[in-house]
Amino acid sequence: MDAMTIRSTRGRRRLYDSILDTVGDTPAIRVNNLAPEGVRLYVKAEAFNPGASIKDRLALNIIEAAEQSGTLSPGQTVVEATSGNTGIGLAMVCAQKGYPLVVTMADSFSVERRRLMRMLGAKVVLTPRAEKGTGMYLKAVELAEKHGWFLARQFETAANADIHEATTAREIIGDFAGDRLDYVVTGYGTGGTVAGLSRVLRKERPETRIILAEPANAALVGSGIVQARGAGGAPAESHPAFTPHPIQGWTPDFIPLVLQEALDNGGYDDLIPVAGGDGIAWARKLAAREGILTGVSGGASFAVAMQIAEQAPSGTVILAMLPDTGERYLTTPLFENIPEDMDDAELALSLSTPGYRMG
Ligand code: PMP
Repeated sequence: MDAMTIRSTRGRRRLYDSILDTVGDTPAIRVNNLAPEGVRLYVKAEAFNPGASIKDRLALNIIEAAEQSGTLSPGQTVVEATSGNTGIGLAMVCAQKGYPLVVTMADSFSVERRRLMRMLGAKVVLTPRAEKGTGMYLKAVELAEKHGWFLARQFETAANADIHEATTAREIIGDFAGDRLDYVVTGYGTGGTVAGLSRVLRKERPETRIILAEPANAALVGSGIVQARGAGGAPAESHPAFTPHPIQGWTPDFIPLVLQEALDNGGYDDLIPVAGGDGIAWARKLAAREGILTGVSGGASFAVAMQIAEQAPSGTVILAMLPDTGERYLTTPLFENIPEDMDDAELALSLSTPGYRMG
């Protein structure tokens, strides 16, 4: 046997001026146990961001771009409609920079999201789930107009795709420098991730195929039906192809303006629908077989990556985006079959020695 080795660390060799400086530079991690033979499968784990999701990037840039352009003044209240992760990211940024934050959110999204935002100092205004994404968005617009607040507009702002171009995409270019990268798989919520990635990858890695995924029962892009838009590119109405799906953070009930750029500019090569149940199943497998905790959207991207991997020739390299952490879903169907109490096998283990038994 070789001499014993112990893993050691050396610190990051820098001190951080604030939590905001820890956003980005998330790791691309190899998937070992689930990947088919001969295919190298990686996931970009955005849970490593301080607010534990990819939306920390956009939250930081929306605020800093608005500070620089003067559209956000010191102490002004920020308001946004969000399914949760953008709100958590904004709450983190606003807490650090001293802006009050009000978030509007449909009451269908997981309660841990609301409590996290409130923990980070934000106010959360719930909207009826029947009014869908457009309802929570229009509530944010109403509040901004009435109170003179800064509306973050994640679905329309240029600050969204810009930050993925400047950070997420650059990290992928850096991490895969000198290596193959045949596929990148992502879904869309605002479309900021795919728009930013495609700006850079199309130029610098033209051989990389960009795979866009969307829920099978909300295939808005796949329907080919154009989104009706109002002022500033905001949706004028709910898209007819939308039905409610369990992939939180993906595909609102409209095609966002931010995503439209990628659709108009050929920013993806293939569009693959994925069932919510498959997203849940693969998120569970990533946790149990790889030790990688991700949400349903990460599971759904990974489901598509596995589908590609299973048909790909030996040597293929695939990267799937994992937008957030599985911990954000404790009260959702992702954890539905994960019990709080001991099951029969655990009880049998408890009874297999004499001490410290329950009851
Ligand atoms: N997954 C989750 C969990 C998200 O919160 C989001 C953002 N809404 C996405 C995926 C999609 O990212 P993007 O908005 O950049 O398309």
